[in-house]
Amino acid sequence: MPELPEVETVRRGLEARAAGRRIVEVEVCHPQVIAGPADVFEESVRGLIRRLQRKGKAIAIELVLNDKEPPHYLLVRLGMTGQVTVVPSDYPLQPHTHVRLVLENGEEIRYRDVRRFGRLRYCTASELDAVFSALGPDAPAMTDADFVAALAGRRTPIKSWLLNQGRLAGVGNIYADEALFAARIHPLTLAGSLKPAEARSLRRAVERVLRNAIAMQGTSLRDYIDIEGRPGRFRIKLKVYQRAGEPCPRCGAKIRRLVLSGRSSHYCPRCQRRRAGRQ
Ligand SMILES: [Zn+2]
Repeated sequence: MPELPEVETVRRGLEARAAGRRIVEVEVCHPQVIAGPADVFEESVRGLIRRLQRKGKAIAIELVLNDKEPPHYLLVRLGMTGQVTVVPSDYPLQPHTHVRLVLENGEEIRYRDVRRFGRLRYCTASELDAVFSALGPDAPAMTDADFVAALAGRRTPIKSWLLNQGRLAGVGNIYADEALFAARIHPLTLAGSLKPAEARSLRRAVERVLRNAIAMQGTSLRDYIDIEGRPGRFRIKLKVYQRAGEPCPRCGAKIRRLVLSGRSSHYCPRCQRRRAGRQ
């Protein structure tokens, strides 16, 4: 599932290939990926692509019809298997392509999504504000002090806390596991029990892991590709994620997997010891 580094890679790709272009025609091939009525979406998503914003795993494409009208937005969430590409309009249509946003220059933005958990939504500035304010701070932008304060008193496992988009936006299963490994923290440790120094070290690990992954265009496990159709290259850098049974790159102990709220967590039982007694 795309997380912040993959979504940021898509945002940058769109900025490079589509910003400054005008959307002149929209075709929805499968309405399930549209939030709200598909015909309203087709009629409303028009105009010059002025800039591309991102918060957490959501991308907002800012559109303007002309200088007098306020901007409006196309919100894109990739879900599990969403792919955004920019291709020439005569490029053969791949199966599972659900939306085509035709640009004036003979190219188009295509949205493809095998499992159809992603969503495209047309929204006004205030609707976009509501969506973005429901998210916690964008993970790399959080300060040490804010991070320490946000963990205080939380009696939830740190792994679950990291995945809660209302607390911290952008981190998913891959980068949560990698950051906890880097900071030597067991995934079941209660968030509020981390000492300030541990919390700061985790916050820095989150930021470092995300930045390193962005630098390699994210991680492709199965479906994720960038705007040009290329996979991300960070997979080879993963230390624990989906490496259960392999030796820990730091100490050689076998990486383990545990299931928490239906999601797998991967960790080193020696580097990330579970604390005795009260977590
Ligand atoms: Zn280890």
